[in-house]
Amino acid sequence: MDSLPLTKPDWIRARLPGGEAWKKVGAVLARRGLSTVCDEAHCPNKGECWGRGTATFMILGDLCTRACAFCAVATARKGRPLREEEGEEIAAAAAELGLDYVVLTSVDRDDLPDRGALHFARCIRAVKTAGRGAAVEALIPDYHGEELTAVIRAGPEVIAHNVETVRSLQAAVRDRRADFDKSLRTLREAAEAGLLTKSSILLGLGETEEEVLSAMDELRRAGTAILVLGQYLRPSPRHLPVVRYLSPEDFSRLGEAALSRGFSSVISSPLARTSYHAREKLVDARAGNAVSGGAGRGNPRRVETMGRPPGCKLIRLSAAVEGGIIRSLSIRGDFFASPEAAFDRVEARMAGTALAEAGRTFDSLLAEEGVQAFGVSGAGVAELLMAALGDNTPPGTS
Ligand code: SF4
Repeated sequence: MDSLPLTKPDWIRARLPGGEAWKKVGAVLARRGLSTVCDEAHCPNKGECWGRGTATFMILGDLCTRACAFCAVATARKGRPLREEEGEEIAAAAAELGLDYVVLTSVDRDDLPDRGALHFARCIRAVKTAGRGAAVEALIPDYHGEELTAVIRAGPEVIAHNVETVRSLQAAVRDRRADFDKSLRTLREAAEAGLLTKSSILLGLGETEEEVLSAMDELRRAGTAILVLGQYLRPSPRHLPVVRYLSPEDFSRLGEAALSRGFSSVISSPLARTSYHAREKLVDARAGNAVSGGAGRGNPRRVETMGRPPGCKLIRLSAAVEGGIIRSLSIRGDFFASPEAAFDRVEARMAGTALAEAGRTFDSLLAEEGVQAFGVSGAGVAELLMAALGDNTPPGTS
């Protein structure tokens, strides 16, 4: 991997917060007294996720009994008293926000006899019995044995647990009570119980590429189905410094390496976090988009890419493409597009578009929906999409 200067590169730019959906998420959470990891961990994707009306709920209080050197969540020897009604409040918030996929995570609660596993299970059950049929992803501490069984019995669709970094950096990056083998144990036990499992690695903490590949191999051997690779960003001067910023090309290469190891779904991009586009990752994994699940094999191929194609500012593009047809498209970045709801409709209406028509269709939908757009164009979107799919002939640009 090439080394890069340690000033924050321009591809680490998050979408600015704002918009009606963003305000609604904030209002619902505040009214119901709920915490999110989006806030507590200073997630760079808050503008985007909340702008799309989604968030990741953080349960068991806002004080963590562990003190990992990369994490912004506040720490204490003893956590907050549990809120009995927390699960019901989350279920009600999810209903208000119209969520059909709910991600729950928590702080570590080493101060509780069951480390919070029973409360975690209660919250999952509350969401699952609230009547909306929402799927639940549980991003859990390193539970194992009876703790993990309690959570699994509550019926989540996905169990996520992060190894956070490569084996050699565990002691420097994570709390002394966490380690790679304990995390693998959680993932292995969940996979052996038949659950779809997911884990994340933060990059840029000083790991080598070989160590990342080796961590992928170990995760696969533990049955992990979904992998997330993202850039570590220093939350404050009290936290570990960034050793290097990986380029978008580094992320593409590592993402391909992960797919070739058999993960069902991989998201590898600088701002990727465990719960980023979580619903789409479940859809991918269920469709079995492993290894070469490309357009020609009947499964949608998902691509995540970013770049500055001609006529565009820096854009980040996620798409699913099947048999030469776009199934879904999401575009984020530095560009200006207004009104935002109409731009969201353009993205939604791109589903069903032939790749060969992507550029022309995008431009005509912008016009139809009355979107004022600067710094993004059909030609640029088509070119970036084709480059990510491995075809350098930009369609619909002539
Ligand atoms: S990526 Fe996850 S934690 Fe970050 S803002 Fe989105 S939902 Fe919240």
